[in-house]
Amino acid sequence: MKYSTLSLPVLPLGCAFFLFLFSACGDGPVDLPSCEGVEWEYEGANGPDEWSSLCVDFAACAGAEQSPIDIAGAKDDAALQAIAEHFVPSGTHIVNKGHTIQLNTDAGSSITVNGETYNLLQFHFHTHSEHLVNGVSYPMEIHFVHKNETTGKLAVIGVLVKEGAENHFLDPFLHHLPAVKDATYDDATTTFSVADALPANRSYFTYGGSLTTPPCSQVVTWLVMENPVEATAAQIQELHELEHDNARPVQQLYSRSLRHFHI
Ligand SMILES: [Zn+2]
Repeated sequence: MKYSTLSLPVLPLGCAFFLFLFSACGDGPVDLPSCEGVEWEYEGANGPDEWSSLCVDFAACAGAEQSPIDIAGAKDDAALQAIAEHFVPSGTHIVNKGHTIQLNTDAGSSITVNGETYNLLQFHFHTHSEHLVNGVSYPMEIHFVHKNETTGKLAVIGVLVKEGAENHFLDPFLHHLPAVKDATYDDATTTFSVADALPANRSYFTYGGSLTTPPCSQVVTWLVMENPVEATAAQIQELHELEHDNARPVQQLYSRSLRHFHI
């Protein structure tokens, strides 16, 4: 017990000491180059451990409020509210972003949670999952990205996907995935509602974090669904073949609170 309470101040002191050494004894802080044309990757010399030192706008990737995390030890919080959903049908607009497959959604869908309203912009896929739950990874995770237009902050609903029954929400898209980077597929008349992608039980975990790709901006309220949905191995494989492994390793929680809304 003594050790755990003593260990808390070590991180900020350690960082301060490191910065002191760096500025007082070294050659001064390294001036990072512009991010223009910088290519980040999921492995190798431009992999996740190096993102923060690749260029100046990626420095936040070494911040203390980064995502994803291993979701463990979340505290039930009676003050949290259910996500109020206002999802309207959207046409199908798929973009191969290179590192992920993204569907841009038509305007008009939003969520309100814990007093703030965010408009749905897009959703995309990670294979395998980025968040872990009690150390366990899932074969896929879908991120539904919403933005508060007043503050510019984001709320991202994370849906974990486990192998199982066919996922009927995914099925129409999977026949039309653009195979090469920057390729698109557009069909305004084939519509879907994001409500159908979420698990029936909307219990969620929440914490303050970041984008999981550079520039790793620490502007995200994460809402990770407690209950996974299912998709077949073949469905998951179709996305994985295009995206390859696009999961950032989990980051430290540090002093952030991790809370649980239970329905
Ligand atoms: Zn994502």
